[in-house]
Amino acid sequence: MAESFSFFQKVNTDFDKAAQFTDYPPGLLEQIKVCNSSCHFTFPIKRDDGTIQTIHGWRAEHSHHILPTKGGMRYSTLVNEDEIMALAALMTYKCALVDVPFGGAKGGIQLDRREYSDSELERITRRYTYELIQKNYIGPGVDVPAPDFGTSETEMAWILDTYITMAPDKLNAIACVTGKPIEQNGIQGRKGATGRGVVYGLEEACSYAEDMKPLGLSAGLQEKSVIVQGFGNVGYHAAKFLMEADARVIGILERNGGIYNPQGFDVEKVAEHRAETGSILGYPGAELIENPNDGLELECDILVPAALENQLTAENAPRIKASIIAEAANGPTTPTADEILHKRGILIIPDTFLNAGGVTVSYFEWLRNLSHVRFGRLDKRFEDSAQHAMRRAVEKATGYNFSEEERELIHGADEEDLVNSGLQDTMITAYQEIRETRMQYRNSKNHVDYRTAAFINAIHRIAQSYMQLGIFP
Ligand code: GLU
Repeated sequence: MAESFSFFQKVNTDFDKAAQFTDYPPGLLEQIKVCNSSCHFTFPIKRDDGTIQTIHGWRAEHSHHILPTKGGMRYSTLVNEDEIMALAALMTYKCALVDVPFGGAKGGIQLDRREYSDSELERITRRYTYELIQKNYIGPGVDVPAPDFGTSETEMAWILDTYITMAPDKLNAIACVTGKPIEQNGIQGRKGATGRGVVYGLEEACSYAEDMKPLGLSAGLQEKSVIVQGFGNVGYHAAKFLMEADARVIGILERNGGIYNPQGFDVEKVAEHRAETGSILGYPGAELIENPNDGLELECDILVPAALENQLTAENAPRIKASIIAEAANGPTTPTADEILHKRGILIIPDTFLNAGGVTVSYFEWLRNLSHVRFGRLDKRFEDSAQHAMRRAVEKATGYNFSEEERELIHGADEEDLVNSGLQDTMITAYQEIRETRMQYRNSKNHVDYRTAAFINAIHRIAQSYMQLGIFP
């Protein structure tokens, strides 16, 4: 079955499906849907061997209904204008859904980072940032990039340094980019945030016994078998936190092949093996999956695509055996696959919700940068002493002595505790809201799945912003 649609068209199809359940004026819906601005720039770069190469970069700001706009910066050969606009649109809906006050944006450079040296990547990133500054596509109140596929805190540090050098407002300049290294005004917990958010989201979704029953599953993540596609920042952290939640990570798939063990992997050890050997393949005791695409079709409870878009297609959807698809990547399921999987009774937890943990913690980082104070700085010590005073009083009054383990739980919250608590609350609240919307339309003749319910909630929140602006009555 051939599928001819662009990524941005797919996002808009999902939007249209949801828009039918609202009664906003068509003009308002159109305004929400379109990409407000996008920019393609090309610039020359001198390679280490002296040759000159033209680099193609994009930044799209999908929605200006709230500023700044926000979204990652990816380095991949698949980057093009349509992809960046689609991903920027997904950021708009994602932020609205988890109530993070940003419009959506996304940027990218079309390259395979493995073909470039560190110094070439630094020159490219700095020049790209310079282009963003010139075109007013970056700034703490304008548009704030972050890591994405193929980028990390290193690139964010280069972006920050380039921006600060040129910034007119030095006071707030550090909030021009998030996902920065901790020593450069980053925030504790940002690196693992998307993966951690995936697990908080899954934990909430799997906590409803009545939702798990039709899938033939019991409530809770414990003992659920999981296959993760992609072992980058998101895939690695999702796998690690799933293991910590007592799920069994039985398969890990990378572009050059996958590993399988029905007993479950120690994810940290797999990461160590990769650091030593350069690949997850050859991990002791694991079965080799030669073609990673075959790994997607293996028996498991939860399949976590955590790589790129269009991985579950009309072609492989009929053979997927997972009961739950947890979209840690952006856009991993094509529209036809979505329909097929849905008809087969497979639960899809959509990207717009499930991978929103990254931007949620980016929001906390941005707030920290603008307030110029680390979370927990003012109250940690006070809370610490108050809680211990309380413990001592309880011990004295009751004669009960707290165990060492219990004592460890009693402490004032530091930055990471607060970040994780804010992230968990955000994921739980957003899931409950999506679930409620889905229930509301349960008997409607047009079936509402979680993706559509998520879009409905996002549309309501964005429409409210436009109405507050007084543009639409
Ligand atoms: N790149 C991440 C995403 O797709 C994070 C974006 C951000 O933190 O701004 O959601």
